[in-house]
Amino acid sequence: MNKFLMALAGNPNAGKTTLFNHLTGARQHVGNYPGITVDYKEGSLTLDNQHVIITDLPGTYSLTAYSEEEVVARDYLINQRPKVVINIIDASNLERNLYLTCQFLELGIPIVIALNMIDVAKDRGIKIKAEKLTELLGVPVIPIIARNGQGTDELMTAAMEVARENKPWIPTHISYGEDLDETILDLMAIIDEQNFLTESYPSRYTAIKYLEHDDLILSKGQDESKTTAQTIESQVTSVSDHTLKTTEVFPESIIADHRYGFIKSILRQGIVTHTFDQDRLHITDRIDKVLTNRFFGPVAMLLILFGLYQFTFTWSEIPVGWMENVFVFLGDTVRNNMAEGPLRSMLISGVIDGVGGVLGFVPLIMFMFLGISILEDSGYLARVAFMMDRIFRIFGLHGSSVMPFIISGGIAGGCAVPGVMATRTMRSPKERMATLLTVPFMNCGAKVPVLALLIGAFFSDHKASYMMFFTLLAWLVALISAKILRSTVLKGAPTPFVMELPPYRFPTAKGLAIHTWERTWQYIKKAGTVILAFSVVLWAMMTYPGLPEDEAANFEAQRQAIMSDIDAEKITQSSEDATAGEELSTASQELQDQLTTIDVIESEAALRHSLAGQIGTSLEPISQMAGFEWRTNIALMGGFAAKEVIVSTLGTAYSMGEIEADASQPLGDRLLESPHWNRVIAVSAMLFIMFYAPCFVTVICIAKEAGTWKWAYFSMAFNTVFAFILSVAVYQIGMFLGLG
Ligand code: GDP
Ligand code: MG
Repeated sequence: MNKFLMALAGNPNAGKTTLFNHLTGARQHVGNYPGITVDYKEGSLTLDNQHVIITDLPGTYSLTAYSEEEVVARDYLINQRPKVVINIIDASNLERNLYLTCQFLELGIPIVIALNMIDVAKDRGIKIKAEKLTELLGVPVIPIIARNGQGTDELMTAAMEVARENKPWIPTHISYGEDLDETILDLMAIIDEQNFLTESYPSRYTAIKYLEHDDLILSKGQDESKTTAQTIESQVTSVSDHTLKTTEVFPESIIADHRYGFIKSILRQGIVTHTFDQDRLHITDRIDKVLTNRFFGPVAMLLILFGLYQFTFTWSEIPVGWMENVFVFLGDTVRNNMAEGPLRSMLISGVIDGVGGVLGFVPLIMFMFLGISILEDSGYLARVAFMMDRIFRIFGLHGSSVMPFIISGGIAGGCAVPGVMATRTMRSPKERMATLLTVPFMNCGAKVPVLALLIGAFFSDHKASYMMFFTLLAWLVALISAKILRSTVLKGAPTPFVMELPPYRFPTAKGLAIHTWERTWQYIKKAGTVILAFSVVLWAMMTYPGLPEDEAANFEAQRQAIMSDIDAEKITQSSEDATAGEELSTASQELQDQLTTIDVIESEAALRHSLAGQIGTSLEPISQMAGFEWRTNIALMGGFAAKEVIVSTLGTAYSMGEIEADASQPLGDRLLESPHWNRVIAVSAMLFIMFYAPCFVTVICIAKEAGTWKWAYFSMAFNTVFAFILSVAVYQIGMFLGLG
């Protein structure tokens, strides 16, 4: 059976992924943001006995080469030549969505239009005559609701019909006014005569792209034939000069204006009717009047954020306790059933305490992701971006930097890697670089368990407030750093920004469940693979090379001495009468305690002597300025691999050699009781962890996106130095004020 290629294309948030999931059954991310990914996804299905491969293209507003998304989408269409494109348009936002449709029509590729979200349109009192639109555009227009699959059968039937017709690409002609129309015809003549790029694009399309100054087509043209490209370019220059002189605009703007004119002329023919009063505010608009209000909006935003943390910490407290008990139980079981030795130590200290510490936070992470999914699916997160834009401009960032910040963990619980990649949609290189370098300051999903651990242990009465404080602080630090970067190494003018707000929607239970689970599962998977591996490596570094023989023998001798004392006590005890026995058993208890103390001192000595211990100790003179002892240093070094490793390493370090070594205690309690920790140190550590070098995956990503390692090194050095200065200041001042 031969394969059929179909593509789904449309504006961001038009519902492509929702339809894609409905058709293929694949589980995909359904988000509200442009630019979360520029990859396209494939799925397959059988329609009418035909095996069909369907591709979910990245969302775009246009088909020019302005952004990665547009390039990816267009290249796919040109190179793969799908039999039909399903162009999804948002019925409640027809005019804007049809702009992209126009460009498909001009490309001539066979399309059917999925008129999506007719439920939303209906709620807003908008009615659209699909048959009339079909007639005027000359392509099938099928109303659907992607969310529940209504109309999708008809849509696919229409798509198959178009695909089976197998017509050549026929570009639709849109008039661009006298000057440009004439030039287009002239250019087409040259293009057709020379067969210039005609294998890929219809000649009319190439001509228009030259007028639009599409960089990608320009450089393809140069590769194809320098002389023809030269001829075309000079014609374009002369017509540009002409339009600039007569109308003061470039051909690009004339083209865009005429496209909108074309759309308006169609819509004016009774396509859209409003069943409500025109001036009655839509529900979304009314909600937005409050939630994005200049003064009340930010207040509401802070309250919602605080509510999120309150919800997360309160509701997760009990299940987190259960998880901790599970791992304490596992540890005890292994301890009681396995002979002492390196394997047991690895299982307990490396695997159970390490990974267990990270997995213990699964309920918390789940609640947090649930809350964030609600904010995201309802459309509120887009409002956050909208409000932040006003603030961002003050700090030299761009409105489109907001999403990368939120993706990186602006609310908590994201990841800087997709955040860094999401900066690709930004057009100004300097604004992009400033964003790229500051998004790692956000509290990503890996820092959350570390913060939760320390906040939970040292500030258990005000968990949500502390989380809120650290979130706002992360923003503040990121924005100030951005400002500094933008006024020094990345100086440059700001670029304008417009943003469309999607309407509010009620999140569906299924959508929330899938989102929450996907993200939680990623966290679990990371704990079970990467974190487990690092945890075992760090355990080994904390175990070997072990104590030198003479020292080990020394400890053994001390133990032997006490053992024989205990034996002696026992003998005396049995020969005395009962009243004296009580006193003596206290004495023997003391001896027992001494024995434990020796064990602990030995294991601490062994940890210190280990590879990691030696490094941690050698850093202690410096790190003490910020209040960190050598064990904390080990954890912080581990954090460069992945920030969760800080939790697992602290777990291992404090289970291998702590003074009051009561191994069957959750890590938080162990830290709380440790003489090497207190509140000031906890805050100093949290600050350091939030702001020091990004984890190495992020660093690699920064290098890749920036195109040079220079910026990646800069980010590691700058962040670490900054974090250290901050921690030292907080520790010194805090201790001076006696807050410890
Ligand atoms: P994409 O960016 O084009 O992939 O759009 P998505 O598939 O991610 O959809 C964006 C949002 O619109 C999601 O919250 C969907 O649940 C929602 N959505 C998609 N189709 C419909 C629909 O027909 N009706 C309603 N009410 N919501 C929809
Ligand atoms: Mg999508």
